[in-house]
Amino acid sequence: MKSAQVENNVLVVKERENETLDGRKGAILKVLGCGLCGSDIIKLKQHLVKDGTVLGHEIVGRIVEIDSETGFKPEDVIVTSHHIPCGKCEYCKNGNVSMCRHFKQTNIIPGGFSELVYVSEEHLQNVAYLKPENLSCEEASFYEPLACCIRAVKRATLKQNSTVLVIGLGSIGILMSQALKAFGMNVIGCDLLASRVKVLKNLGIEAFVLSEMCDSIKADGVFMTSGSDKAIDTALKYVRDGGKILVFSSTPHNMGYANNEIYYRELTVLGSYSPSPVDLRDSLELLADKQIKVTGLSTVYPLEKVQAAINDTLENKILKAYIQI
Ligand SMILES: [Zn+2]
Ligand SMILES: [Zn+2]
Repeated sequence: MKSAQVENNVLVVKERENETLDGRKGAILKVLGCGLCGSDIIKLKQHLVKDGTVLGHEIVGRIVEIDSETGFKPEDVIVTSHHIPCGKCEYCKNGNVSMCRHFKQTNIIPGGFSELVYVSEEHLQNVAYLKPENLSCEEASFYEPLACCIRAVKRATLKQNSTVLVIGLGSIGILMSQALKAFGMNVIGCDLLASRVKVLKNLGIEAFVLSEMCDSIKADGVFMTSGSDKAIDTALKYVRDGGKILVFSSTPHNMGYANNEIYYRELTVLGSYSPSPVDLRDSLELLADKQIKVTGLSTVYPLEKVQAAINDTLENKILKAYIQI
């Protein structure tokens, strides 16, 4: 089978041995497509993965081989996520499921940018669903990234009708803005690029180019989906005293933190990382109900062009890549 493997910090498509069940419980999927996540790009750029690694976790696939108690059967087209919490450890009991050690150890094998993948019985039981018929594979591939956003919205525990500013309108900012709206917030988006502002406006959500933002905006919550230095300054400028800042992005270097602003202005700063099985279920429901619109957000690339997809994403030529396999 073909798969895109890390080699000297770029992805190279290579042949490797077919993934088969080989006595394991679970399923082999023919991957139909896999979204390219910002985290895949960060892992490459920051040299966080070894050569030979296969990235990709926003998967839609058709079952070609299965041994499972779940009722899924061959030919079913499913969406799945990559990590599963144990449900029993102290992290899980406290609701920090994405900090669960088991969560970080579970994965799709070898990774989504591959013709075939193995998903375990645990995946099928906890984080896999049939693709809703009214969603294309490309649309359904937003299942996992949208779930990440839904988790962030829930973790912020903002009151209904709160004013929320989303900083950064890449694909995650666009999903986050829509998720916040679906949860009853008044949403404003901002970005440095007018083209991205337009995408959010077309979805019926107020948005501004950063330089045109009104100074008087005071947000109950600010969601940072961009990790630039400017994003932190922008968050501190627009969050109201006593408000919340939700961090949803890594930064290339350690930023320190705004101790005195957090103290004197009684701000709450919190992070949100990866989704729980409940967030994933909610995500698929919102996608299938078309409450969150993803049509046209992504651009299709064949597996052979996965490195071009990464370059185009980095150069802001596209919002999001969907790798068709
Ligand atoms: Zn992702
Ligand atoms: Zn756990």
